[in-house]
Amino acid sequence: MRIAFIGLGNMGGGMAANLAKAGHEVRAFDLSEAALAKAEERGASRAADAATAVEGADAVVTMLPAGKHVADVYRSSVFGKAPTSAILLDCSTIDVATAKQVEEEAKAAGYAMVDAPVSGGIAAAEGGTLTFMVGGSADAFDRARPILEKMGKAVIHAGESGSGQAAKIVNNMLLGVTMAGTCEAFVLAQKLGLDPQVFFDISSKASGQSWSMTSYCPVPGVGPETPADRGYEGGFAAQLMLKDLALAMEAAQAAGAYTPMGGEAEELYRRFVERGGGPKDFSALIKMIDDSWTM
Ligand code: NAD
Repeated sequence: MRIAFIGLGNMGGGMAANLAKAGHEVRAFDLSEAALAKAEERGASRAADAATAVEGADAVVTMLPAGKHVADVYRSSVFGKAPTSAILLDCSTIDVATAKQVEEEAKAAGYAMVDAPVSGGIAAAEGGTLTFMVGGSADAFDRARPILEKMGKAVIHAGESGSGQAAKIVNNMLLGVTMAGTCEAFVLAQKLGLDPQVFFDISSKASGQSWSMTSYCPVPGVGPETPADRGYEGGFAAQLMLKDLALAMEAAQAAGAYTPMGGEAEELYRRFVERGGGPKDFSALIKMIDDSWTM
């Protein structure tokens, strides 16, 4: 297939390389010259702009920062420029309202489109092991699936247009809440004289356990190897967690859902990012919950 790929950053770079590796003809565009040069080295051909990249494409994949970039790129460079036979896949994490709006505009212009945000970070993008949560019609999902399978290990149909984004941000809201709670629990346990390893051994087998506890423990040297063991480098950046929590709170407000714990987690991550924690893994929140916490 001839696939146009727009947005070759931390995530898109590896995803486009996996499509090229699978034998697709990838035509890449990014505003960053460095990202384009790297994509070329990894098997894609470069296009002068997004509208040129989508000319004659069988599929268009976008991996962009936020809703406004997605809306801009589709309105200015995809609709009316790509053949209407092309399937459109937006893999960025964006707000539900923009995802639905852009998909409606795609439909009106004669295209099939899905929102297909991912779970998994840069390593999963490189390794082709992402999980895709897909919103769109059953037909659009069937057409998108073989392309997504070249970039991921799981491709799940979440429902109609916007449902992929909804699943992504609700899942990450829950993750933000459980991580904040797990950090608090370790801090309190320590202040009450419990050894962190002993508390882990108990809680990871008791009713307080969650993925944040058993698979992504925020305490160095406790549980399986996690970013906590690497100085909180790599992993899932706190600033991206804040972005997802803000999207979840925006969606909750629009839907009239009461999400006090999500709101509290957003507030905690906002403070952490303001204090310079943004690039650190999101489990480093434990350092802010207790400054005296010894790492
Ligand atoms: P990034 O900033 O590294 O990459 C985005 C790329 O888009 C950049 O190279 C930028 O130059 C390009 N871009 C922006 N506007 C453009 C335009 N108009 N035309 C062409 N290119 C344009 O971001 P990332 O980490 O790759 O994340 C991409 C998306 O994936 C985001 O929505 C993010 O929330 C989501 N996501 C990221 C991770 C992660 O761990 N990094 C994990 C899951 C989901």
